[in-house]
Amino acid sequence: MEERLDFAPCGYVSIKDDGTIVCINQTLLTLLDYKMDDVKGKLIYKILTKPSQSFYQLYFLPMITIEEKVEEMHLTLETKDGSHIPILLSAVRRKSDGMLVNECILFPMKQRHAYEQAMLLAKKTAEDSERSKKEALMELEKVQKELENKQTELLQLNEKLQKLAMTDELTSLYNRRIYKRELTENLSIYKKTRIPFSLLMVDIDYFKDINDTYGHVTGDRILKALAQMLVTQSRKQDVVARYGGEEFAIILTNTTVADSIQIAERIRKSVEEAIWDISSLSLTISAGIATSREGDNRKTIQTRADEALYRSKHNGRNQITHASQLERV
Ligand code: GH3
Ligand code: MG
Ligand code: MG
Repeated sequence: MEERLDFAPCGYVSIKDDGTIVCINQTLLTLLDYKMDDVKGKLIYKILTKPSQSFYQLYFLPMITIEEKVEEMHLTLETKDGSHIPILLSAVRRKSDGMLVNECILFPMKQRHAYEQAMLLAKKTAEDSERSKKEALMELEKVQKELENKQTELLQLNEKLQKLAMTDELTSLYNRRIYKRELTENLSIYKKTRIPFSLLMVDIDYFKDINDTYGHVTGDRILKALAQMLVTQSRKQDVVARYGGEEFAIILTNTTVADSIQIAERIRKSVEEAIWDISSLSLTISAGIATSREGDNRKTIQTRADEALYRSKHNGRNQITHASQLERV
């Protein structure tokens, strides 16, 4: 046999149809731990396991006879010491020296098995790390969601705090700080546009008597209800604030003298005609109005409105006075 074939990196054996081994290379002999004389001229069954002997008879022989070739057939060899070696066998049927022989090459599959195991292990490792990655991602998403919820909570809390800082606790109207800010804002708009706005100061008449008669708690409830009524009676763009105690300030944006008188009178009347949850209670308010004019600042417009309110009180209460009416007198 040619040396290259004798020591090829795969097994080689040629077999006659009756199963006699005609030729076998050194590589295969070494694999089986046999000497040439042990197997040459012997039957192929000598180097096959029992199941592979049956397989050889049932499949290999009919196939090689009919198709003249066999490709990648799995068989198991049995070595001299009885151990088993799985192999992959390919064969062709050829005439050699006037005799039909089946020439076979055999690849041991021990290594392949090891490779497959390694690949399976690598696949499992990859799957495990993919799973851990997914779990970590899910955990991250959970933490992110929690963070988002906390942020929303914080925003809501901030909003609440902001509202609290802007409003009066009892009536939920704007507090005096915001009232002052809005008055300044309206004065600066007026300065630029010359579109007048009016300031309406409202004070409950004889509120001390109401407290004395019905108690402070009822007094609080009435303050709340009146505050709500003032909001209902005003427009969206107006600023309704609790100025202090039982006194309220309403900034009527974009409102002339005549309009402010009309609005104040409507509010006064609606309070007078309102039905309260204490049937014997009759509640009235007095109001003073001032409309913006050139050179006004917070103090000047406030003073005119206060003076007008004082005039309403002085003239018998349950009435409104516009500051311009004082000047005419
Ligand atoms: P006038 O018609 O002159 O305004 O008489 P008045 O009694 O309303 O005025 P006065 O300033 O003498 O009294 C105001 C009263 O308002 C006294 C105070 O107890 C009451 N008051 C102020 N703030 C509150 C409050 O938050 N709750 C209650 N229940 N009463 C308040
Ligand atoms: Mg009062
Ligand atoms: Mg008062």
